[in-house]
Amino acid sequence: MQHPVQVPSAAVDLNERKRPEEALRESEERFRTLVQFSFDVYWETDAQHRFIRQEFAETLSEPPVAEIGRTRWEVPYLEPDAEGWRKHRETLDAHLPFRDFEHARPTPDGGKRYTSVSGLPVFDETGRFMGYRGVGRYITERKRAEQALRESEARYRTFVDHATDTFTLHNEDGRVLDVNRNACESLGYSRDELIGAVPFFFNLDMDEATWRVNRERLKAGGIATLESRYRRRNGTVFPVEVRMREFCEGGQRQIICLSRDITERKRAAETFREMQAELTHANRAAAMGQVTASVTHELSQPITAMLCNAEAALNWLGSQAPNLEKARRALASIVADAKRGGEIIGWIRSLIKKTPAPKESVVVNGVILDVITIVRSELIKHGVLLETDLAPGLPLVEGYRVQLQQVVLNLILNAIEAMNSHEEGGRELRISTAADASNAVVVTVRDNGPGLDAAMVDRLFEPFYTTKPEGIGMGLSICHSIIEAHGGGLWAGANEPRGAVFQFNLPAGQGDPRRMS
Ligand code: ADP
Repeated sequence: MQHPVQVPSAAVDLNERKRPEEALRESEERFRTLVQFSFDVYWETDAQHRFIRQEFAETLSEPPVAEIGRTRWEVPYLEPDAEGWRKHRETLDAHLPFRDFEHARPTPDGGKRYTSVSGLPVFDETGRFMGYRGVGRYITERKRAEQALRESEARYRTFVDHATDTFTLHNEDGRVLDVNRNACESLGYSRDELIGAVPFFFNLDMDEATWRVNRERLKAGGIATLESRYRRRNGTVFPVEVRMREFCEGGQRQIICLSRDITERKRAAETFREMQAELTHANRAAAMGQVTASVTHELSQPITAMLCNAEAALNWLGSQAPNLEKARRALASIVADAKRGGEIIGWIRSLIKKTPAPKESVVVNGVILDVITIVRSELIKHGVLLETDLAPGLPLVEGYRVQLQQVVLNLILNAIEAMNSHEEGGRELRISTAADASNAVVVTVRDNGPGLDAAMVDRLFEPFYTTKPEGIGMGLSICHSIIEAHGGGLWAGANEPRGAVFQFNLPAGQGDPRRMS
């Protein structure tokens, strides 16, 4: 639409006290000032649209050459196209006002000079069309800036389109306003299908409530990061990490979401978890190997007892007057010993088994006593005096019994080894349990071996850190992971007067340990 503009006219000063020539001169001066500060050119054309007057602002660095006697389209022009000129001439021939008609003409250096012109038709008293009066403004700088902006937008668009991440732009309600190429490719929809789409239709974990919560977080400033699952058109689902940021464009709040496919990352994490599980199991099997003698001893005891009781029972039954009561008691002892042997075998099997037992409520003191059973003869063999101080009535711990047994077993075996390498004084191992202020169960294992130096303490829990010629250095790293997965912590320090202290805590009845077979 074209609007009439107020074009300065050479109005005559009606101040009657001044002479007409003086008034005219003042009026011309005012007009020139107006042109100087408001426009770059003032022009007039005749009824055939030929320039009859062109006044250029003196402030122009390069004053253009006047085009008197020619029409605007007779001077070589580059823009607009033929259709644009045709429309403009239609307006002129209809003697209508026009505003901001933009065109470009070549400059001597091969560039373009853009001008934006506005004009009003002029009629005489009889209503005859006399031509146009108008103004023009040189807008090359603005055009260049617009062009640069367009180019940078195009560059940005290319960058966004070629990005390996998915960009989606949403309005405040979550409706999709724009997407990049990767969004289309990874989701399997066309741009048109995605733009304006029902909010969150491809995001399985996003609903209105979640959107609102995340927007609240964005309002506080910054970026919200969340994990979601996107569903492709073909129904397959892939995990993404979504980063959301809110900004204001033309008074409208918009939310940009940058999503990255994290299938590979998830797979790597899974592989890592599997490796950790393998190592955890290997470590347990190795620890079991270390206590084979002890286990054999624990098993041979009930077997020997069973043999004795079986012989006794046969005697009681085989005599002239069978003593059934004594035979019954001997058989009951066999049953008890068989049960005990069965328990030990079951326990060893659970330690060696790969498939993890389900999570359960664990009595931590029970875990320690089980491990002590299996290492008892190991302790005796190495002349280690064991002292236990297990607090009664401790809270239960939610977790994996076998994993916790593994931690205690590793700590005890490390202590035995450390004291073994140390010749000074008697060897003492003290194991105690207690509940701390937050009702977590605290387990402490103390020895009086060589202890740990400061540099060592920093590295103890690193994988493959070992000071033993035959060591693997995974034991403490695995213990650390197990305790952390149970929501607790594991620390090492110095024992008084000598030796090392290892302590861990386990929160009561909570924590969600991941499975580490
Ligand atoms: P490994 O037993 O295969 O060396 P660990 O991770 O179990 O692996 O232990 C790492 C290192 O920590 C050991 O090599 C040892 O130097 C040190 N360490 C562990 N427990 C004790 C302890 N009770 N006293 C002194 N040093 C210890």
